[in-house]
Amino acid sequence: MSHPVVALQVQRRAPLREHNSFGLPAVAASLVRIEREADIRRIVDHPEWGRAPKFILGGGSNVVLTRDVAALVLKIEIRGRRLLRETPAAWIVEAGAGENWHDFVAWTLEQGWPGLENLALIPGTVGAAPVQNIGAYGVELAERFESLDAVDLVTGRTVTLDAAACGFGYRDSVFKHHLAGKSVIVRVRFRLPRPWQPVLGYLELERKRAETGIPAPDARTVFDWVCAIRRAKLPDPALLGNAGSFFKNPVVSVEQCRDIIGRDPEVVHYPLPDGSCKLAAGWLIDACGWKGKTVGRAGVYERQALVLVNRGGATGAEVVTLARAIQESVYGRFGIRLEPEPVIV
Ligand SMILES: Cc1cc2nc3c(=O)[nH]c(=O)nc-3n(C[C@H](O)[C@H](O)[C@H](O)COP(=O)(O)OP(=O)(O)OC[C@H]3O[C@@H](n4cnc5c(N)ncnc54)[C@H](O)[C@@H]3O)c2cc1C
Repeated sequence: MSHPVVALQVQRRAPLREHNSFGLPAVAASLVRIEREADIRRIVDHPEWGRAPKFILGGGSNVVLTRDVAALVLKIEIRGRRLLRETPAAWIVEAGAGENWHDFVAWTLEQGWPGLENLALIPGTVGAAPVQNIGAYGVELAERFESLDAVDLVTGRTVTLDAAACGFGYRDSVFKHHLAGKSVIVRVRFRLPRPWQPVLGYLELERKRAETGIPAPDARTVFDWVCAIRRAKLPDPALLGNAGSFFKNPVVSVEQCRDIIGRDPEVVHYPLPDGSCKLAAGWLIDACGWKGKTVGRAGVYERQALVLVNRGGATGAEVVTLARAIQESVYGRFGIRLEPEPVIV
């Protein structure tokens, strides 16, 4: 008699190099592709796999694999996208967790439902987007979020979480804390507000507006601008392994910010509504002389000091060693502890 999980095709000793945007070498002891929500329940109910530790993997664009993965890797490939409803105030759109994020953004625009254009070209899957509340060019996922469905890896039960239950913060959510690794996001719903208003406050988008002489761009134009800015600034993981921004931008008190500005008037900073201040981590790293440097086979990207790259054949340990050295020098000079953005495994 064939066991249900045999039909799920658990792959033994699965190489993960192709499944992480840093291109780091690691092997999963076992890996299963999740194409349906029901696949998760079959694993939960399985006598062997049910109890095994699990690691949830989307596109692998926000992970640093420092070793082989002993846990059962659940590679999320649940597809599907549709308009759920349309009201005078919003389009509510739903997508499966395994949909490619950028393709989903492009598809919503093709359908005539704008709102996600500032988040174009972020690698990875729809299901991982709420995990760190992805953000770029003045928009965070939380601002376009309606709700999500997630399956509990112990009970197999599906729950629906709204924005409050997700606890979104800056590159943060409950999926990085008490639900980390415990709950698989299977579907995400987005609220795309009507009438659409472009978000153009970001300096580089302002520049595009001035350069092109287009004062009121449509959503497709904003999408094209964001793609062009990102392509010029960020390395393509297909050519140079990386996980995007390696550190979060630190948030400091007004006093700390004033102190740093006193010593380094050029420091790039953004005042926040609560009176605190966000500092550009890339600027701090650059000020410590790291841009373009290489340690072992890991390095700091020449055009953006916030991005660590695999110069070819790097291991996760080499990336982490470089990251620690950067953290130490930023702490030594500015007294600020940089926090990594990707998940270090
Ligand atoms: C070139 C480049 C540029 C980037 N730019 C940005 C940017 O502008 N803004 C930004 O916010 N991020 C950016 N990132 C980071 C990354 O693209 C996002 O964090 C993305 O959402 C990760 O998606 P993923 O599917 O690759 O997740 P993975 O790397 O596979 O997983 C990330 C984490 O989420 C968990 N996870 C994944 N899927 C699920 C699921 N379905 N349910 C529960 N947990 C899950 C994993 O266990 C892991 O802890 C960039 C990365 C790169 C390489």
